[in-house]
Amino acid sequence: MNLSCPSCESNDIISRNIAKNTGTVVGGIGGAVTGAASALSGARIGSAVGALGGPAGIALGGIAGALFGGLLGAATGSVAGAKIGERIDEHVLQNYQCFACGHQFSTCDD
Ligand SMILES: [Zn+2]
Repeated sequence: MNLSCPSCESNDIISRNIAKNTGTVVGGIGGAVTGAASALSGARIGSAVGALGGPAGIALGGIAGALFGGLLGAATGSVAGAKIGERIDEHVLQNYQCFACGHQFSTCDD
């Protein structure tokens, strides 16, 4: 992306990505919470599948299912949070700042 400052036309622009970073963290936490819930069903499914392998299979299947559910939830939440944050950065916040004059702006100023 080649941006220039609307105020002084310098090309020294940084993107601040505040909402994106916040969204990643918030989404990750939210996802982990959701993941914890799906970890329970994951454990149940894992146990059911593992039951084919006897008592050890039930334990292993349960652990694998829980881990998978939790990790998947956290990862999905982080990605979703980052995506949403990116949108907020681009369209709502003034995501860009000029190094030369300190002017803050968004790409939707025009
Ligand atoms: Zn500037």
